Amino acid sequence: MNKGNVIVKEAMKMKPITVKTKTSVKEAADLMKKKGIGNCIVVDDTPIGIITESDILKKVVAEDLKASEVTVEEIMSTPIIVIDPYVPLEEAVKTMGKCNIRRLPVVENGELIGIITQKDISRMSPILHEISREWYDISVRDEAHLRRQIFSGKCEDCGTLSTNLKNVDGRLLCEDCIDALAYQ
Ligand SMILES: [Zn+2]
Repeated sequence: MNKGNVIVKEAMKMKPITVKTKTSVKEAADLMKKKGIGNCIVVDDTPIGIITESDILKKVVAEDLKASEVTVEEIMSTPIIVIDPYVPLEEAVKTMGKCNIRRLPVVENGELIGIITQKDISRMSPILHEISREWYDISVRDEAHLRRQIFSGKCEDCGTLSTNLKNVDGRLLCEDCIDALAYQ
């Protein structure tokens, strides 16, 4: 098999563990412990959220709430970003990097069929794993900081003086040029 053409379906885990929206955090935690997993997907017909060990730690334990009295719906991360099973692994890597997430539910025709994590990807392809780490770093370090910053000066595209220049892929552009880019 050509490693470059691996699709998500070939690398994902089948049958991810799911819970319903009204499942208590206690039940979900028991399930995660029993199955030896760190997260489960919240499903209401289609996947609508995900809860992880860190959600339980931060939103239940640290808040001193009772796990049997909190539903997963209250602490899940939602909405979730999902991926199609038939796209190349690179696509999953990029999505994870851009969205700053480590796992993606795999959905086919609205139905949850699997889950793919950065670990699954690094097992399939160490090179892709490197790319995913790069994307991760870029998304965390550069985008978060640079996108927020506003500069004053000459637009590097049209030369207009502006007090509202923003960094777009390393160039400082005025609002008009940024708008023009968006419509290309
Ligand atoms: Zn401009």
